[in-house]
Amino acid sequence: MDATVVVILIFLFAGVLIGLGLGLSRRAKRQEQVPGEVRTRPSPPAPPKTAPPVVEPEVAPTTEAEVEAPPELKERLGKTRGVFARLRGRNRIDDETWDDLEDTLLMADVGMPVTERILGDVKERAKAERTADSDALMALLHTELVALLTSSPDGGDKPRTLTHTEGEPNVWMFVGVNGVGKTTTIAKVAQRETGDGHVVVLAAADTFRAAAAEQLTHWAEVTGAAIVRGQEGADPGSVVYDAMSSAASRDADLVLVDTAGRLHTKTNLMAELEKLKRIVDRTPGALKEVLLVLDATTGQNGLTQARQFAEAVDVTGVVLTKLDGSAKGGIVLAIEAELGIPVKLIGVGERAADLIEFDPEAFVAALLDA
Ligand code: GDP
Ligand code: MG
Repeated sequence: MDATVVVILIFLFAGVLIGLGLGLSRRAKRQEQVPGEVRTRPSPPAPPKTAPPVVEPEVAPTTEAEVEAPPELKERLGKTRGVFARLRGRNRIDDETWDDLEDTLLMADVGMPVTERILGDVKERAKAERTADSDALMALLHTELVALLTSSPDGGDKPRTLTHTEGEPNVWMFVGVNGVGKTTTIAKVAQRETGDGHVVVLAAADTFRAAAAEQLTHWAEVTGAAIVRGQEGADPGSVVYDAMSSAASRDADLVLVDTAGRLHTKTNLMAELEKLKRIVDRTPGALKEVLLVLDATTGQNGLTQARQFAEAVDVTGVVLTKLDGSAKGGIVLAIEAELGIPVKLIGVGERAADLIEFDPEAFVAALLDA
């Protein structure tokens, strides 16, 4: 073997050794990357022998209704408020202003007859008082609208609160067409009354649809009211009768009667409401309120409904619902001025807390004031 061969052999041997070393180190690296490999990581601390104690919340869980905040009228009436806002910011009163005022009242669903009356009165006073800008005009309008809402034919203030006499049976009946918010309003009223410590019984006298009693049962559970219901198609009169007996036996203050909004014909519906009223009247003086529920979003249509219901049953007040979603809050003025029925409550949302007692001054301020 000459020297050249020896040198080549040495190089080959060294090459094999180097190659082997590189391969091994690559394999080692790959192994390090294997998921779950714990070899290179410190072992986790041993779990504590006993689990930490479960911390109970200090307050009992509250119901959905209890955590609800009372609604802000100004915010909820945003849309109608927006309609009136376009009258602000003017430094003179001219024909255009009067046209805009008329348009605004009509857009807010005040209706033609009442719009003309308001316009006439405000114009007259603006002239007499030399009203020169929109701030002063809004102040005049404010006074005019409050006067329109508070004046009653007999000269006294219209009754706004719902009549309730302690120690007597009190029945409040809710009437109105389908979908206006009767059942939801009953839930809201039940929530308010149980909150005031009254024992409340709900009468599910809308037996025309099975879903109606289901919906009312849900609300009875939420508000803590008792409920009397019948089978689908049962005689609504017997449900009302049973609810009143149940109220008497459990010393309940108040029966809230949910009624159907649609039967096979309108004549049937009105006849049935009259019948229900007669059943309540078997206990003299028990029927304290017949509340007509109207949906504000249907606007002037509500007036037609109101006339029909008022003919069949003596309506003692109106509940105007869905004012939160409507730019037609002016319908309040039309109802009051044209029908003389006081608006007693307004619905401003779908939650049990979304009910506001109607107060003319607060309502007008929420609509007009900056
Ligand atoms: P009823 O057929 O007259 O009993 O009407 P419901 O009480 O079943 O209500 C019909 C729908 O109107 C439901 O989806 C309610 O949640 C909704 N509703 C009722 N009152 C109000 C309200 O004041 N504001 C809004 N935004 N929705 C309401
Ligand atoms: Mg209903």
